[in-house]
Amino acid sequence: MKKILITGGAGFLGSHLTEKLLKEGNEVLVVDNFFTGTKQNLAHLLSDPKLEVMRHDVTFPLYVETHQIYNLACPASPVHYQYDPVQTTKTSVHGAINMLGLAKRTRARILQASTSEVYGDPEVHPQPEEYWGRVNPIGIRSCYDEGKRCAETLFFDYYRQHQLDIKVVRIFNTYGPRMHPNDGRVVSNFIVQALQGKDITIYGDGQQTRSFCYVDDLIDAMVKMMNSEAGFPGPVNIGNPGEFTMLQLAETILKLSGSKSKIVYEPLPSDDPKQRQPNIELAKSKLGWQPKVNLEDGLKETIAYFKKVLA
Ligand code: NAD
Ligand code: UDP
Ligand code: UDP
Repeated sequence: MKKILITGGAGFLGSHLTEKLLKEGNEVLVVDNFFTGTKQNLAHLLSDPKLEVMRHDVTFPLYVETHQIYNLACPASPVHYQYDPVQTTKTSVHGAINMLGLAKRTRARILQASTSEVYGDPEVHPQPEEYWGRVNPIGIRSCYDEGKRCAETLFFDYYRQHQLDIKVVRIFNTYGPRMHPNDGRVVSNFIVQALQGKDITIYGDGQQTRSFCYVDDLIDAMVKMMNSEAGFPGPVNIGNPGEFTMLQLAETILKLSGSKSKIVYEPLPSDDPKQRQPNIELAKSKLGWQPKVNLEDGLKETIAYFKKVLA
């Protein structure tokens, strides 16, 4: 049994991670400021005495004892990370410094939830970990992209300078139950629109692509990375290489939900990446991991979840 700290543990991915680590018999301390996360996401776990939930903002120092730290705190969808962009950068940068300082003092192993956004609007396709990315430093997505890039820099400097035991995963678009119904992400938007009979809003011409990973596969990889061999800091891509256009995604969701919603086209937000697909060869060879859930099966689970939430 380990004592494990999860920052952002009340969010979408964090709540699934909390559930898995409790199931494995660990003690879990969730630290969250509830900006986008909710206690509701953890409601089914609160009776477990091995779970502790603390309201705290990671931009402030935190003194607790722990064996492992999963650093997930950060709003992940454009509407949320653009709501207070300065706080978003602070969360990634000051949050990383504080959690790295905590790891240094306790000698805990620490994993950073980085993102495919570090590749920006990529010129290399699919993206391997060696690609340095193409990110606008002064655009409306920069608070998220550059904040996450700087967090990676801090992780690797603490690794080189203080011999910290770090792990960095670059997460590609992930979906599943407990996504926020109104966080503006494409999977939640399309499903909610389809279930409510509203127009399906495709931004741009719908030919941009994304690769969608089901949450259970993602969490499985994250835990495998945390427990991987010492001396392997990553970064490692985790995602599902199946690549779809937004038009294909809309049509699949319409079919699976039996909805009669119409597709409408709206302007493309600025700096919106045209294509994105992970190269997961490193995860396959180092972690012995690859995703198991295909898009249709994962969407069926997610649609069933949203039907309950919206009922
Ligand atoms: P989420 O918004 O559901 O979860 C983020 C959590 O962090 C929330 O519970 C929020 O309240 C908390 N938080 C935000 N700022 C905080 C602060 N300053 N102090 C303490 N807590 C704070 O998002 P998610 O989809 O679960 O993402 C979790 C992590 O994974 C994020 O770091 C995100 O960047 C990363 N990620 C997610 C995806 C994805 O597709 N979901 C893709 C790439 C990377
Ligand atoms: N810190 C923390 N918890 C700890 C230890 C450190 O939150 O248990 C924070 C503290 O705010 C510090 C930061 O982590 O400023 C970086 O710590 P480090 O030891 O690297 O540097 P310091 O600033 O203490 O020299
Ligand atoms: N998108 C869309 N309609 C929506 C929401 C998003 O067409 O209602 C598009 C968005 O422009 C982007 C893609 O879907 O090209 C994925 O958007 P999301 O915000 O989910 O993820 P990210 O852009 O961060 O990968």
